Order: sequence, then C-alpha cells, then structure tokens
Amino acid sequence: MITSVLPTYNRAPLTFVKGEGAWLIEADGRRFLDLGAGIAVNALGHAHPALTEALTTQANALWHTSNLYHIPQQQALADKLVDATFADTVFFTNSGTEACELAVKMARKFWFDKGEPDKVDIITFTGSFHGRSSAGIAAAGSEKMTKGFGPLLPGFTNLAFGDHDAVAAAITDQTAAILIEPVQGEGGIIPVPDQCLKGLRDLCDTHGILLIFDEVQCGVGRTGKLFAHEWAGVTPDIMMVAKGIGGGFPLGCVLATENAASGMTAGTHGSTYGGNPLGCAVGCAVLDIVADPAFLADVNRRAGLLRQKLEGLIAAHPDVFDLVRGSGLMMGIKCKVPCGDVVAAGYAQEVITVPAADNTIRLLPPLNISDDEIAAAVDRLDAAAQALAS
Ligand SMILES: *Cc1c(COP(=O)(O)O)cnc(C)c1O
Repeated sequence: MITSVLPTYNRAPLTFVKGEGAWLIEADGRRFLDLGAGIAVNALGHAHPALTEALTTQANALWHTSNLYHIPQQQALADKLVDATFADTVFFTNSGTEACELAVKMARKFWFDKGEPDKVDIITFTGSFHGRSSAGIAAAGSEKMTKGFGPLLPGFTNLAFGDHDAVAAAITDQTAAILIEPVQGEGGIIPVPDQCLKGLRDLCDTHGILLIFDEVQCGVGRTGKLFAHEWAGVTPDIMMVAKGIGGGFPLGCVLATENAASGMTAGTHGSTYGGNPLGCAVGCAVLDIVADPAFLADVNRRAGLLRQKLEGLIAAHPDVFDLVRGSGLMMGIKCKVPCGDVVAAGYAQEVITVPAADNTIRLLPPLNISDDEIAAAVDRLDAAAQALAS
C-alpha cells in the first residue's frame, strides 16, 4: 500500500525535532553535527536569532498580500542583491527549479523580442542539476531524472563537462544561452575551473549569446565569496539563486542584467508566493550577515581549516576515501567504498553528510560553524571511517 507521503524519497531512519546552530537534535535526544545544512540551505545554521527575529516580526505584521501590490521587504531584498552583484533586476521565486523556469523563459524571450524567435536552444552540461521541474530535468538531461517523463521540453543541448572545444562547436544560429553551475553540487562537488568560466564568458560574448549561472547551491557565501563566479572574475547575464538565500525559509530568485531581462515586461511572468513578505524579510536578514566582507573572510578561514583536516582524514583512511575537492565550505570527498555506506556510518557517529553523484559525500556545513565544531565533525568522520574499515 502506498504511504500517505508520496514515496519519492528513500529516507534515512532519522527524525530531527530541533536545531541549534550546527546541531540537529533527534527525537531520541541524540545530537548530530550537521554538515549537510539541509543541502546548503541553512546557511547560518538552525534557529539563528537574527533570522528567527526577522521571521517572527514579519509573521506578526503581515504574511501575504500579492504581487499585485508593492511589497517593501521584496523591494529591500532586490535592492540589496542589485547592490551586491552584477545584476540590475531580480525576480523572486520559492525554489531553485522555479528560478530555472524563469531563466529559460527569460533567455528565450530576450531573443524573441530581438526578432530572432529561432534562438531557443540552451547548452547545458552532463552531471548538472537544475531542479525537478520540466525545464530543470530537460536542462540537466540525465536519464535518472528524465526517464518516463517525456516528452521533454525541447531546446537543450547537453554536452560533456569540461570540453571547451565541444562547447564552441555546439553553438549554432539557434543557440540562445549557455547554462552552467560554477560548482556542480549534485554532480559531486565539481568546481568549474576559473579559466573555463572565463572561456564560456568569452564564447558568449563572441557569439552574442547569454550566459546563465546556476548558483542555487554554490551561491550565498558558500564558496567564500558572496557568489561563486566572483572567484573567476566574470559575471553572467542571468543567475539562479535559492537554497542559502532563505536560510531555511523557501526562497529563490533570478538575477539579471537590464539587457538580459529586457523581454520580461508586465504580464510576461508571475508567481503567487514568490517574493512574499515572510521569505523576503528572512532573505534580507541572511544577506545582511553573509554579504559582510568580514563574515566572508571568516568563511574562507574556516574553509581552510576544514580542508586541512579533510586532507588529514583522507591520508589516514586511504582505503575509504579517495580525494577531497570543492570550494570554500562546499566540499566533496570522493569515496572508495560506496558513498552511501560512508553517510550511514556517519549517522552512527552522529554526523550528517549528504551523498552526491560520482560516489562523493558532500560537506555543506552552516557557514558560521565554529572551529571546534569543524574539529569535532572531522573526528566523527574519522570514527565513521574506522568503523567502515574494521
Ligand atoms: C537544489 C538545486 C536546484 C533546485 O532547487 P529546488 O529548490 O530544489 O527546486 C537547482 N539547481 C541547483 C544547482 C541545485 O543545487
């Protein structure tokens, strides 16, 4: 008999009832160190006082009106994002995949309005993840996500990851945009080298096509810059953001230049909940903390500490772990034993990690995790590896 919750997830036998910073408390009282942060969502950990304050204050004032009216919290968050980034304009969504929907629509409308309605194709990459909507699964293109859900939204050309010449060769008169995650998340924490992002920017400029970055997982301070592409010194035309921006409240957005957004006039797109006062009040509180250069400097310092400890962990367990890769507090450990076994062994030691593709476990701790918590988390991973080896 089917479960009352649609059984699309293989859930771990864990039920968390409370969160405090980098800690999750299980119904039985066990305290887990959370290196998953709800898959890079709880950017400031659990129950951060500034976020709780922003949410409850707004909850006591006004939950929802409609995008038919002005929403001051939405205006404030858009202003902050425009100030802090390449973007001139922002549309708010409730999730990453909704951001993908708009990014695709925006790129196509851009060319339609330029009198080039055949420019609809978007180049994407193997191993990418853009969410579970029809555009998101078609964009990523993997069999795992698309099988049985056809006919797929047409217009996506999925290329091998890391082959610049193949990208150049795949651009046609119908190419509207290139879409890429600066650091692949679900794909196994695989950073795109800076020179590749620069190469894509150059290709887009040469051919006059749009560059779209999906920073749903790698954005909002995760890599030690406010957005990951800043490391490469290039900017996109359109960017998808979600996960960390709401710190745990469902919130996403699309950022764009004035040029890229030029087709999106009144009536062309909308959302009932996107940009609601609750989400945007929390988003403002998140951004006020994360966009502070001193906070980002601390993320980089913590990232160095975590990386150093992970190198030691891998050296100590060469039969369990293969290598570490990533950027900032977005780390992946490629495993030599099934990564699901490592995640389960971590649960037994009360530390949370998240499996990804390429037999990799993801470490995406809250950005404000303390040095002591980092040390304790790596000790727990060490105990997990020891248990696996014996
Ligand atoms: C999680 C994720 C998405 C989808 O976000 P949802 O909020 O689950 O729809 C899209 N792109 C990337 C890179 C992600 O990590």
